[in-house]
Amino acid sequence: AAKNAGRNRVGYFTQDLRVVAEKRLRLTSDLRSAIIGKQFELYYQPIVALATGEIRKAEALIRWMHPERGMINPTEFIPLAEETGLIVPIGDWVFRQAVQQARRWRTLFGPAFQISVNMSPVQIRQDSLVCAHWSEHLAQEGMPGQAIAVEITEGLLLDAELNEKLLTFRDAGVRVSIDDFGTGYSSLAYLKRFDIDYLKIDRSFVHNLGFDADNQALCEAMVVLAHKLGLEVIAEGVETTEQRDFLRGIGCDFAQGFLYSQPIPPERFEARFATVLVA
Ligand code: C2E
Ligand code: MG
Ligand code: MG
Ligand code: MG
Repeated sequence: AAKNAGRNRVGYFTQDLRVVAEKRLRLTSDLRSAIIGKQFELYYQPIVALATGEIRKAEALIRWMHPERGMINPTEFIPLAEETGLIVPIGDWVFRQAVQQARRWRTLFGPAFQISVNMSPVQIRQDSLVCAHWSEHLAQEGMPGQAIAVEITEGLLLDAELNEKLLTFRDAGVRVSIDDFGTGYSSLAYLKRFDIDYLKIDRSFVHNLGFDADNQALCEAMVVLAHKLGLEVIAEGVETTEQRDFLRGIGCDFAQGFLYSQPIPPERFEARFATVLVA
């Protein structure tokens, strides 16, 4: 009986593997058609200056409008895009789209308005000229580099060639953020070796501010040290007024989170946040 059960388990197991492999293959081919079929959209989430409450930036967050499955979030398809290399054309599309949006919103929200885009570590590793190409694109479009901040993750700080790659961004004026800070392996000491402008405190440190003394101390330390190194700080995942007030109190520069808005399509972003000028 034990032998049979064992055999059955193996049977189920191989079948499960096949189902998983088939699903993956299907999603990969869907992902290819998504690029051709223009099924991606960028949603935007406001980033607010804590001192004034003004919206000064927005983060572009990709959504996949799948013809059968509806909207798919990036956590579901970015890993597959990275494994298949499709992240490179997707990342380029996101960047170009964000540059167009920045042009429009610098007219609407003021000339300092900035859009941040997420750059996959896979893209920066596979496509060694990506920073140069993105900088060239901005120049061709006649857009200042400061219109864009590129969010990279902490893991990349261990990449020996990172500084060299980021040089073209520095020359072009493109800003660089460290996303999800505090979740990876690096330390604050790495920050001064690289040309970084913003530090984004991961939302895992923010969610229990007001209850967790350790996280309060960590947030405060990150803000103080970042400021000493000349970086500005953005807190992610701000959901409550208590969190906002705490962060403002410790001198954090910017906040982003559901308290202000979920990521929303650009038309809704404008309808909600653009000041209506009545003649
Ligand atoms: P991220 O860059 O850290 O983006 C922030 C994520 O946190 C977003 O999830 C956003 O919807 C979510 N978020 C914002 N405020 C709150 C809050 O108050 N509470 C909670 N619980 N969550 C909040 P989203 O849009 O699902 O994106 C997930 C991740 O996918 C992003 O994390 C980023 O790493 C990646 N991603 C998104 N768009 C792109 C893209 O265009 N390119 C690449 N390479 N990665 C992307
Ligand atoms: Mg991000
Ligand atoms: Mg983040
Ligand atoms: Mg995060």
